Amino acid sequence: MAGFDQTLRPFLWRAERLYPDTEIVSRTHEGIQRYDYATYSDRTARLANALTDAGIETGDRVATVCWNHHRHFEAYFAVPSVGAQLHTINPLLPDEHVQYIVENAEDRLVFVDPSLVEKLESAYDPSTFESVAQFVVMGESVPDTDLEPITDYESFVGSHDADYEWPELSEDAAAGMCYTSGTTGRPKGVEYTQQMLWAHTMATLTPQGLDIDDTDVVMPVVPMFHVNAWGMPFSVTAAGAKHVYPGPSPDPEDLARLIEEEGVTFTAGVPTVWLGVLEYVQEHDVDISSLERIMVGGSAAPKSLIETFDQEYDVTMLHGWGMTELSPVGTISHLKPEMREWDRDSKYDQRGKQGLILPGLEFRVIDDDGEEVPWNGEDFGELHIRGPWVTDSYFGRDDANEADFDGSWLKTGDIVTVDSEGYLTIVDRTKDVIKSGGEWISSVDLENALMAHEAVVEATVIGVSHERWQERPVAFVVLSEAARDRAEPEAVKDELFELVRADYPKWWTPDDVLFIDEVPKTATGKFDKKVLRDQYDDPDLLEDAAPEDAAPEDA
Ligand code: ADP
Repeated sequence: MAGFDQTLRPFLWRAERLYPDTEIVSRTHEGIQRYDYATYSDRTARLANALTDAGIETGDRVATVCWNHHRHFEAYFAVPSVGAQLHTINPLLPDEHVQYIVENAEDRLVFVDPSLVEKLESAYDPSTFESVAQFVVMGESVPDTDLEPITDYESFVGSHDADYEWPELSEDAAAGMCYTSGTTGRPKGVEYTQQMLWAHTMATLTPQGLDIDDTDVVMPVVPMFHVNAWGMPFSVTAAGAKHVYPGPSPDPEDLARLIEEEGVTFTAGVPTVWLGVLEYVQEHDVDISSLERIMVGGSAAPKSLIETFDQEYDVTMLHGWGMTELSPVGTISHLKPEMREWDRDSKYDQRGKQGLILPGLEFRVIDDDGEEVPWNGEDFGELHIRGPWVTDSYFGRDDANEADFDGSWLKTGDIVTVDSEGYLTIVDRTKDVIKSGGEWISSVDLENALMAHEAVVEATVIGVSHERWQERPVAFVVLSEAARDRAEPEAVKDELFELVRADYPKWWTPDDVLFIDEVPKTATGKFDKKVLRDQYDDPDLLEDAAPEDAAPEDA
């Protein structure tokens, strides 16, 4: 039997003792703030005392409505390590979801960023916020607001002692909580225990994971309000590496400048972030040569993005897949040793897949008949996954628990293939699959093909109802600024059709390509197909399109 449980606090203890001078840099509402692990540890202990004095007890939920910065990072270790539960709330969710979440979680205290006070005020409702006894603004002062009682973070923490007797916690103690964005129905709460976060940290630290070590300078762009910023605040601390937090609503320029000024070696975020950064660095004089690798995930990373970062900037993109339910990382696409000798194009193809399961997890892929699919890269089914950092239930949602779990297996709702080497490819989410003439078209594959065109910045594909074929694919494309200037959309459209035809059956060709200014995004920065479906699911849209040869019979 182990003599001590798997909990987060020893990661902090180690960083403080072994790397006291390593920096934590944070872009905040007040400008760039900079301190070291010694100061971080001090402030975290003060925060622990402040929480205890504010009446936070074991098992209480403490919510954050915050961007990525040092104060949020202090809450990341202090809250779980006093025995409470860190509940990160996505400020981009609609008000009624925030109300539902606060009421459902019964949050006791809420940390909120100055720039998000207004948002929280608009969501505030005395009955759903009844459990909240205190608001704390993440800054040095309190803006004008009706939220109360309210204080500012520095006053809340400042007068407290830097000595704190951290409790010995059970690894089964609840440490974190996050709700899925609820693109369909109410958000579902996922709770993380100390052990889940510990196990996730250890797995992501390995070379098969994110391979972070004490020489790294790590900038998590993926928001800390969504699934623990992919666990990076914990793993970067466990490694004793330097943290760089990009703060409120960073744009591509902010990110590129932080990479240059802080010497960032590793960063992480959704593909749309990197598409923006790429466009920025290609057009501006900024030095990102310190950057070695980018973790990209949350939605499928276009192969062209992986290729361009590698060829133009010598940056390796690690494509990964994960879910809120998985704390969240499940796979990373590293190349197996023999693949490193492959030609460039085959390597990019392999890296473009969602990749290999992290050590510690198991998966199976189940088809419509309930059978496991062979590992042949072609047959597909739903991905089921289990392991020490995969949840076994949703918080208080017996309805969803019944449908989404099979014993220890989480049914992910992702449709995948597995190649003979065990690399997973997400071909669609169950709800995004396009069914045309009884056959099935992968929206993800089409998006990938379209985004390979140099004039395309973003592309997304949805199924639009069709009288004869049930559904037909329609693409929505955002052109780069340069392409817009010399706009000949009809010519680009033809080239896009050609690109798809080159790799896929003719009937996969979208019935139309619509040029739009921006693809609507979800609260986590993913393409929001629901909005497009609501707006465009109109058979008339296809009146003139759908050439007869674009039909499944033609396959
Ligand atoms: P939300 O539903 O709020 O977006 P998650 O972050 O939990 O919440 O989303 C998880 C889902 O995102 C996965 O089930 C999968 O469909 C999608 N996803 C995550 N990473 C990838 C990836 N690399 N490629 C394709 N889809 C991905």
